[in-house]
Amino acid sequence: MPNHATGHSPSRGASCTQAGFSTRAIRIGQDPDQTTGATIVPIYQTATFTMDEVGVTKGYDYSRSGNPTRRALEAQLAHLEGGNYGCAFASGMAAIFGACSVLRAGDHMIATKDIYGGTFRLFSEVLPQYGINVTYVDMTDLAQIEAAIRPQTKMLWIETPTNPLLTLIDIRAVADLAHSRNLLVGVDNTFCSPYFQRPLELGADIVAHSTTKYINGHSDVIGGAVITSNPDLNAIIAHHQNAIGAIPGVQDAFLTMRGAKTLALRMERHAQNAQTIAQWLTQQTAIAQVYYPGLPEHPQYELACSQMSGFGGIVSFRVRGPQARALAVAKSTRLFNLATSLGGVESLICSPFTMTHGPIPIPTKESMGITLDLLRISVGIEDVNDLIADLEQAFQTSAQL
Ligand SMILES: *Cc1c(COP(=O)(O)O)cnc(C)c1O
Repeated sequence: MPNHATGHSPSRGASCTQAGFSTRAIRIGQDPDQTTGATIVPIYQTATFTMDEVGVTKGYDYSRSGNPTRRALEAQLAHLEGGNYGCAFASGMAAIFGACSVLRAGDHMIATKDIYGGTFRLFSEVLPQYGINVTYVDMTDLAQIEAAIRPQTKMLWIETPTNPLLTLIDIRAVADLAHSRNLLVGVDNTFCSPYFQRPLELGADIVAHSTTKYINGHSDVIGGAVITSNPDLNAIIAHHQNAIGAIPGVQDAFLTMRGAKTLALRMERHAQNAQTIAQWLTQQTAIAQVYYPGLPEHPQYELACSQMSGFGGIVSFRVRGPQARALAVAKSTRLFNLATSLGGVESLICSPFTMTHGPIPIPTKESMGITLDLLRISVGIEDVNDLIADLEQAFQTSAQL
C-alpha cells in the first residue's frame, strides 16, 4: 500500500486488513491524524507541502502527486476491492482512461458490447487517436471473445451487470480465457460495488469504478478509482495519474471516503428494496418484462448467485401498451427523480432510449433491446412501500394513454 505517512504509533488500520467489510470500510486508511489526533482524516486543503530541508519531505511534496486525504481514500478503496493499490481519479471516465494507460499505441482491446455510453465514447473516439483500437463483442459468448482476439490484443474490458438490461458476464470464465492467452482483464465494477462483487478475487487484473455511484452513494460527488494488486500495472497507472493530473480535489476525496464507510449498509438496503420492487413489478399487468439478476427467472440467475453476493439496486422493466406510455410513467413519478446516474440514496427513474443511450442511432439501440418502452430505476434506500406506492400511482396516471 502506498502509505507515505510517517509516524510513531502503529496504524490501527493496518491491524484491520483481514477484518470484515464494514470494519475495513471504516478503519483502513482512517487512522487518527498523526499531528493533531483528529479522529477523522482531515481535509488537507493544500497544494504544496513545506520541506524541513532541501529534498526532505514528510512524504508529500505537491498535491497532484499525493495528498494525505486522497491517500486515505485510495487505501480504503483498494482494501474494499481486495487489492493492494488504489489510485483515485476526478471521475469514473478519468479512472477508466487511467486503466487504459497500461495499453500502448498499436494495442487492441476487446470490450463488452453494451458498455456504458461514456466508456463507448472514450473507446471509440479517443483511444483510436492514440493508436489503440477496440472491438465490441457479446461477452456472454466466450467463442465470440476468442474469435476477436488478434496478435495485438492486450486487454479485455468487462462491464457486468450491463446497463440497462442487466446481462451478466462470467468474470472468472473470461479471466481464465484471457490469462490462457496472456491478456489482461479490466472490470468496471460500478454497478455492483465491491460489497457485492470483487472481480480481483475472480481473476481480474484491474478494477475501475465510477465512485460517483454507489461508493460515494449520495449523488453529490463525481469521482473514480482504479484498483489492482499487480505492482507493475499500478506503477503505470499511478504514473499516469500524476502525469495527466486528473485527480479528485480533497473535498471530493473526503466526501467519497465518508460515503464509502456506509457502503455495506446502503448496498444491503438497495438490494432489499430492489428485490421487493422487482418481484412486485412482475405481478403488475402494466408491466411486460422485468430485468433484475435477483429474480430466479433471470436467465443468468445461477451466475448471479455464484459471482455476486447480492443483486444490486438497478431494475429495468418494459411498460405494456403504446411505446410512449413509458415516458408518461417516468414523468409521473413523484419520489423517483427523473434523472440519469444511479447508486445514490434517493431513487431515480430514467428512459435509457431517450436519456442514457439517447445519442446512439435508433437501429443500433433497437438491436440492443433498448426501445422506448424500457425504463430503468435506481432503487434508493427510502421506505420501499413509499417507492411502490409512487410507481403504482405513476402506472395509474399513465394508463389513460
Ligand atoms: C457513471 C459510470 C461511468 C462514468 O463515471 P463518471 O463518474 O460519470 O465519469 C462509468 N461506468 C459506469 C458503469 C457508470 O455507471
